[in-house]
Amino acid sequence: MAEFDLDLFVIGGGSGGVRAGRLAAAMGKRVGVAEEYRFGGTCVVRGCVPKKLFVYASQFTEHFEDATGYGWRLGERHFDWPTLVANKDREIARLEGLYRTNLEKAGALTIEGRAVFVDPHTVEVAGKRFTAEKILIATGARPNPHEALPGREHCITSNEAFHLAELPRSIAIEGGGYIAVEFANIFHGLGVETTLIYRGKEILSRFDGDMRRGLHEAMEAKGIRIICQDIIQRVEKRADGTLEATLKSGGMETYDQIMLAIGRVPNTNGLGLDAAGVETGVRGEILVDEYSRTNVGHIWAIGDVTDRVQLTPVAIHEAMCFLETAFKDNPTKVDHADIATAVFSQPEVGTVGLSEEAAAERFEELEIYRASFRPMRHTLAGRHERTIMKLVVDAASRRVVGVHVLGPDAGEMAQLLGISIKAGVTKDFFDSTMAVHPTAAEELVTMYQPTYRVRNGERI
Ligand code: NDP
Repeated sequence: MAEFDLDLFVIGGGSGGVRAGRLAAAMGKRVGVAEEYRFGGTCVVRGCVPKKLFVYASQFTEHFEDATGYGWRLGERHFDWPTLVANKDREIARLEGLYRTNLEKAGALTIEGRAVFVDPHTVEVAGKRFTAEKILIATGARPNPHEALPGREHCITSNEAFHLAELPRSIAIEGGGYIAVEFANIFHGLGVETTLIYRGKEILSRFDGDMRRGLHEAMEAKGIRIICQDIIQRVEKRADGTLEATLKSGGMETYDQIMLAIGRVPNTNGLGLDAAGVETGVRGEILVDEYSRTNVGHIWAIGDVTDRVQLTPVAIHEAMCFLETAFKDNPTKVDHADIATAVFSQPEVGTVGLSEEAAAERFEELEIYRASFRPMRHTLAGRHERTIMKLVVDAASRRVVGVHVLGPDAGEMAQLLGISIKAGVTKDFFDSTMAVHPTAAEELVTMYQPTYRVRNGERI
């Protein structure tokens, strides 16, 4: 008789949990995966995937505008929000089904309901108890509910933005990170009067300064209103259903909707972590070592619930490292350096490695290669938006330590640039690479002279 019902119990059927559960089951392990909402998790159900579909929808406005310069004459246009939401829901349902089926095909048991620890080896779901030799917590995160904001109950988060009964006429979005910036562009593209309210000096605080300023300018040029160094202090609902926001600066603004996008908090409440003896940090995140192991040797945690880097591919990578360590006798640390990432704003930001500001703190001298140009596709369209490309090079070793792109398809470029940066290539490799012509990306390999240098943090 086996000592435990299962070899692995996974709590959470999102990107990380499903990857770990599916591959462990395919290895012949007895695996159970519990999910309380929908298989696929945030990324598939109310995150990356539906967001990208909304981004595509919102880009048509500019595609239609640009088409005239290329000779097209278009008839009357009409956007129907319920059609987009229904089509998106159908696609999400299809993907959710695939996630569940693939788990089951691999031999994993899928369990619907909320899993709660009873003791370090026992989990209860919907009144049924399961014992497992190893347990993996992959419960993700949820939008920060902004408890301190009076009137927050009148506001939405990204969760609700995917299911609004109707498109608002106007919206204010609080935050300056990925979600706030992406949704500001989505709503604006769909014709909503959009305001972004950010507490800091410039949006996208952890990104390269050129990307931040460049995107800010491009968004404003499109008609998105951006208010920096301010926050919403109170929200009140008026008799006509509109929302009145009082800003810290004293201003009063009225919107149809207000969306809060001020970060995501780990889902650890009500998991029974005390019963398992698992330690959490100040933000409720599960504390793990470099192998994603908690303080309890057989309990592991991956993905947003650990609040290391809240990105789907990171959760998936952490799942792969967990499998190597826990089941293949090949201890594998998670390497969180040089993660390529994109903000699906309009224009997109694609980036990998260090910003100029972060690199300046780490290296004595930098060479900065910077190009700003109007991409060819914008010429006949009559669009003035510029693309910015930037290489951050450590002068001593010639290693390219950061690449940043603001412009169409920057996200696609970041994926490929990520391989080069991960491989530790020097600027000489960029120089000896032939350009693909005519593309926008060719600029990355044709910047021969540094635009400027940075020594001891000072531009020279
Ligand atoms: P981010 O951490 O990206 O941004 C949070 C923003 O909210 C920051 O601008 C922050 O300001 C601001 N903020 C935090 N607390 C407050 C507060 N109390 N009052 C006012 N503003 C506040 O979080 P998001 O919610 O945008 O996204 C969550 C995570 O999801 C991201 O970290 C990202 O990893 C992931 N994501 C990734 C996407 C992608 O890969 N394309 C898309 C969407 C999400 P400050 O900068 O000053 O700290």
